[in-house]
Amino acid sequence: MILHERNVYGDCGDAARLEAQVRADLQAGGNARLAGDDGAGDGAAADDVAAGDGAGQAGRWSVEAWRLAAVPERMRGGRAAAEAALRAVDPEGYARSRNFLDGRVTGLSPYLRHGVLALGEVRDAALAAAGAGAEKLVQELAWREYWQRVYVALDGAVGADLEADKTGVVARARELPEDVREAQTGLRCMDAWSGQLQRSGYLHNHARMWMAAYLVHWRRVRWQAGAAWFREHLLDGDAASNDLSWQWVASTFGSRPYFFNRENLERYTGGRFCEGCALAGRGCPMEGSYEELAVRLFGTGAETAAGMATESGDGRWPAGRLRRVKGAAVAAADKPVRRPLIWVHAGSLNPKQEALRRYPEAPVVFVWDGEWLERDRVSAKRLAFVAECLREMPERMWIARVERGGLAELLRGLCARLGADGVVAQETAEAVVRMRGEPVGWVREPRFCDGTEELGELDLRRFSRFWQRVQRRAMQSSGYKR
Ligand SMILES: Cc1cc2nc3c(=O)[nH]c(=O)nc-3n(C[C@H](O)[C@H](O)[C@H](O)COP(=O)(O)OP(=O)(O)OC[C@H]3O[C@@H](n4cnc5c(N)ncnc54)[C@H](O)[C@@H]3O)c2cc1C
Repeated sequence: MILHERNVYGDCGDAARLEAQVRADLQAGGNARLAGDDGAGDGAAADDVAAGDGAGQAGRWSVEAWRLAAVPERMRGGRAAAEAALRAVDPEGYARSRNFLDGRVTGLSPYLRHGVLALGEVRDAALAAAGAGAEKLVQELAWREYWQRVYVALDGAVGADLEADKTGVVARARELPEDVREAQTGLRCMDAWSGQLQRSGYLHNHARMWMAAYLVHWRRVRWQAGAAWFREHLLDGDAASNDLSWQWVASTFGSRPYFFNRENLERYTGGRFCEGCALAGRGCPMEGSYEELAVRLFGTGAETAAGMATESGDGRWPAGRLRRVKGAAVAAADKPVRRPLIWVHAGSLNPKQEALRRYPEAPVVFVWDGEWLERDRVSAKRLAFVAECLREMPERMWIARVERGGLAELLRGLCARLGADGVVAQETAEAVVRMRGEPVGWVREPRFCDGTEELGELDLRRFSRFWQRVQRRAMQSSGYKR
C-alpha cells in the first residue's frame, strides 16, 4: 500500500516526530503480527537491557514495543554521519590494533549494511589515506564482499548448515538461554556484551566471535538461535555476514570450530572483564589451554580437532555449490530501463546513490518490507537508524508498505501508475535474492573487485581462496567520486 506520495520523514525534525511518523506507518495496513501489541516495552527504562526494543519477546515483533527516543546509545543514521565516520578511518592504526576491543576499528558496518556507503568507496578512501598500508582493512572489507557473494550463489539459503558440523557434538538447545539474554550468566564479559548488543546494536568483531563461540560451544546452543538474536539487535544485522559468520564459528562453514581461552580474551580486552569477575580463578569455563578446552568441549585433543578439518563441497552439502561460481557479476540479469521507477530498499539508503544521480527526474519509492521486519524482528535501534537515513533521502520519494510476498506486485503496480517501464535499484545481495526472477535494472555502485571478467570462475568455499584471486583488484582504487 502507498502511505505517502512524498518523503514525509524529511519533515520530521526531532526524534519524537520521526518516531510518531514511523510508528504510524508501520502500524498502517493491519498486518496482525506487526501491529499486534502486547504492551511490552511501555514505560521501559532506557537503561534496561531487556526492554524498549522488543528483547525478550521470542517469536513476536511489535511496533508498540519500541521507543526511538528510549534507545540510549547507538550510531546515528544518515549519509552525513557516514561521511564523518569515513573521514575518521585510520587504516594503519586499524592494522595494528583491530583485534583489541579498544582498537581503531571503523564502526562503518551499519552504513555499509544499509548502502549508505559503498564498499568500493570505503576501499578507495582507505587507499587514499594509507596506500599499501590499507591492505589489512581492505582484506576485512573483502570478508563482506565474500559473504555477499556466497549468499547470492546459494540464493539466500544460509539458514541451515552448509557443511557437516565438525565438533562431534550432537545435541544442541534450540533456544537462546534466558541468562544470556538477561545478561545474568555471571561472566562479566558475556553479560557486558549481552547488554551492549541489546542497548547499542554494536559489538566489536572479537566480542561477536567470543560470544558466538561461548553460545555454540560452551552452552551448546544451535547457531541459528544466536544468529537470530544478533540479527534482531545489530544495527548492521545482515543475513549474509551474520549467519555465515555464525556458521564459521560453529564449523558448519569452516574447517574447524572457532573457540578461544580466557587468556586470549584477557589479552585483547586489556583484562577489564576478568578483573573483578566473580568466576575469575573460580570456575571460569574458558580457563585452560587450547588442548584442554578441546577435550572439554569436543571430547578430543586439539590435534584431532584440527584433523577433523575436511574439504567441503563433495555434493552432499550445499557448500558444494560454491566450488565454481561466476566471478563477473553478483546479479543474475540486468534489465535496460528507459523510464524507471527507482526502488529504494533497506540496503540502498544513500541520497547520493548512483541510481538517483543517473535518473534525477525519475519517481522514487521506499518500501517498508514486512518480510524483512518480521524475519529479523528488527529492533527499535535499527528502525531509528533506518528512519534517520530516510530523512536525508529526496523529497520526491514515495513511502510504501508491503507485507510478506507482495513486493514485486507492489512495484509493478506503481510502475503502471507512474508511467514507468521498469524498476531500477541498487544491487545488493539481499535485494537480488529478494527479487529473484523479477526484471530489475540493477545499478552497481563501484564494486569492490570490478573488472571481474578476468577472474573467470571463483571458488567460494573458503575466504582464503577468494582473497587470493581478488586481492590485486581489491587493492586498486575505482577512482570513484561522489
Ligand atoms: C558472529 C558474528 C556475527 C556477525 N554479524 C555481522 C552482521 O550481521 N553484519 C555485518 O556487517 N558484520 C557482521 N559480522 C562481521 C564483523 O564482526 C562486523 O562487520 C564488524 O565487527 C563491524 O564493525 P566495524 O565496522 O567497526 O568493523 P571493522 O573491523 O572496522 O571493519 C570494516 C568493515 O569491514 C567489514 N568486515 C570486517 N570484518 C568482517 C567480517 N568478519 N565479516 C564481514 N565483514 C567484515 C565490515 O563491513 C566492516 O564495517 C559478524 C561477525 C561475527 C563473528
